[in-house]
Amino acid sequence: MAKIHNLGFPRIGARRELKFALERYWKGDDTADQLEAVATALRKENWERQKQAGLNLIPVGDFSFYDQVLDTSFLLGNIPTRFQNSPSVSTLNQYFRVARGLSPDPQAEPVRAAEMTKWFDTNYHYLVPEFEAETQFELNPERLLNQIKEAQDLGYAAKPVILGPLSYLWLGKGHSGIQPLDLLEQLIPLYSRLLSEISRLGVEWLQIDEPILALDLPDSWKKAFEVTYHQLRHPGLKILMATYFGPLADNLTTIAHLPVEGLHIDAVRGRDEVTIVLDKISGYKTISLGVIDGRNIWRSDLNALLQWLKPIHEKLGDRLWLAPSCSLLHVPVDLEQEDQLPEGVAGWLSFAQQKLEELNILAIALNDGEDKVAGQLDVNASAIFNRRHSSLVNNVSVKEKLAQLGDDSFFRSDTFEVRRQLQHQALGLPLFPTTTIGSFPQTADIRRQRQQFKSGEISQEQYHQAMQEEIRKAVAEQEALDIDVLVHGEAERNDMVEYFGEQLDGYCFSRYGWVQSYGSRCVKPPIIYGDVARPKAMTVAWTQFAQEQTLRPMKGMLTGPITMLQWSFVRDDQPREQTAWQIALALQEEVLDLEQAGIRIIQMDEPALREGLPLRKSEWKNYLAWATRAFRLSVYGVQPATQIHTHMCYSEFNDIIGAIAELDADVITIETSRSDMELLDAFVNFSYPNDIGPGVYDIHSPNIPTQRAIVELMEKALKHIPAQQLWINPDCGLKTRGWDEVRPALRAMVNAAKALRLRHE
Ligand code: GLN
Ligand code: ZN
Repeated sequence: MAKIHNLGFPRIGARRELKFALERYWKGDDTADQLEAVATALRKENWERQKQAGLNLIPVGDFSFYDQVLDTSFLLGNIPTRFQNSPSVSTLNQYFRVARGLSPDPQAEPVRAAEMTKWFDTNYHYLVPEFEAETQFELNPERLLNQIKEAQDLGYAAKPVILGPLSYLWLGKGHSGIQPLDLLEQLIPLYSRLLSEISRLGVEWLQIDEPILALDLPDSWKKAFEVTYHQLRHPGLKILMATYFGPLADNLTTIAHLPVEGLHIDAVRGRDEVTIVLDKISGYKTISLGVIDGRNIWRSDLNALLQWLKPIHEKLGDRLWLAPSCSLLHVPVDLEQEDQLPEGVAGWLSFAQQKLEELNILAIALNDGEDKVAGQLDVNASAIFNRRHSSLVNNVSVKEKLAQLGDDSFFRSDTFEVRRQLQHQALGLPLFPTTTIGSFPQTADIRRQRQQFKSGEISQEQYHQAMQEEIRKAVAEQEALDIDVLVHGEAERNDMVEYFGEQLDGYCFSRYGWVQSYGSRCVKPPIIYGDVARPKAMTVAWTQFAQEQTLRPMKGMLTGPITMLQWSFVRDDQPREQTAWQIALALQEEVLDLEQAGIRIIQMDEPALREGLPLRKSEWKNYLAWATRAFRLSVYGVQPATQIHTHMCYSEFNDIIGAIAELDADVITIETSRSDMELLDAFVNFSYPNDIGPGVYDIHSPNIPTQRAIVELMEKALKHIPAQQLWINPDCGLKTRGWDEVRPALRAMVNAAKALRLRHE
């Protein structure tokens, strides 16, 4: 009999109950007991959902108040020394202090929070473990053990989930020369003890996540798997090693012979590998196939899956388990709540709850025969058919446009040298031109206006006028500051992807489709379900209005195709690049309309270009090639005198600087300031051909930069980049700041530019 199980369930709650409980607790409105009560209720609800859906084993330990990697650090007693000065602070408050730098307890002084970074290629962020010379692990298993007991007492078949020692070490950062792998020896005995404790509770299966097996690993790490898992054998406790987010590839040989009782693999992204895995894995092991996509929100084609699974089930029998490909943390909770999706689209979707139900249908069909679920299989088949043939999905004219693209559709006809000349004549900008990244403060006033507009309290006309007023003010502020290239300030935009998605065909939005991004922060990614097209201009009226308020050049502001793709749930019925190119074509129409309306500078933001990089280096080249093409397509066809800007907010781009140059934007503005121009390392061996604006101050901090600090940073930049290529700008948009911070900061920036001109002209 094939069993079904789950790797993890979203913890935030169907209506973001955890988010609100956390925020109440942090504010001091709720007690710790109240917070714990919400958590207990959520865990129970999640377990019950999974049991009701027919799962044979239910994950425990996947719940977290903030992040599962931070939980692991607490489980292993790995708290950086800078947090260890407040012994009287409760563990819970200490936990939040590491996560956020502060905690509700007045005894606990604020301190620098742990660093946060992306969990593999997802939009979830984990807290990076720190390894210091002083690091001493100490097992604190109570929280986990209590949750296991909690589940058992309620009668659930608990399968605890922990993060494996190698992934834990890999995901951390060693300070003062510490190599994380050197700590393995210390860590193994703790894990051993943990396994004993878990086993003592009568647990049969333990899931140990080792997601780093989807990455390129150095040999030393591969070898460490063998050593570790030989030592972690524990009589009476079966280990399911879970890998996800990609195929195992060369890591398969590493783990094929490990002494674990089961192996979970991602059979969505690693589908092609399944036959090889089955071949190589010894005959006694349980194989869990992650057949339901845990990274996307589409209904699975259950009939096709069944056809594929039947021979595998015949071969493996009881040793076959089925599951989602990875934890369901990365999808929203329940589609049932959605009542505003476009007609027909809901039937194509599947959120966490629905994914469990899909698993159950598969299990019944395999174990008891398809006729037992004939009705459900029919419904599934017609949903799949309907989606494939729907006119909502297919737009012939978009497909035709895409088919007509030739190689020359991606390259501007003039070289940068020629364009630079023409742009110089057209724009007449000084040396070290100053500009900003796009947004100005989203004040309480602006947000209230939008709220009132959405709820119908004010009319479209009133809202429009209010936003025009905001634009007028932003332009006046910039003129008073004497900035060279102005922006309209993005007052009318709620979010840089949503704003465009709402105006494009092929996109839709859920009401409650929240996914945890970090801690209490959730995002609601748009859903791209069909061919993308632009029914009408999206930004032209606003930008034109802004340009009419000034004689200085007004920069048009768009979100680039890769970012539009990366921050959405995307189609799984065509390659990602097809979708990216469709978005690019829609944006291109906007670019040309802006140009037609007299806008001479257009910025195409691509903050997500780097995070789209595949996990395996061997796939980078292909990704960068189509991503670059998408960007170039989005700005193709403008006059050589029209200046194209792009913006990215990360400084570590040494490894992709070549691809960034390939974008051939006339100007790129980029984050650098948090790392003190660390980005310039990239320019030592690579001479970037076009103009560049290294961010001269960190907009994420409330600190106001001084003119001197900015001049110093620019002087640093001048060592690597000629003056004629440099722009001066903040390192990202200013929407999260207040005007009282923005004004003095930009004044210092403009003054710095003027001082630099005197020195270098
Ligand atoms: N133009 C956007 C802004 O200024 C860019 C935001 C971003 O880089 N994430 O807000
Ligand atoms: Zn940015």
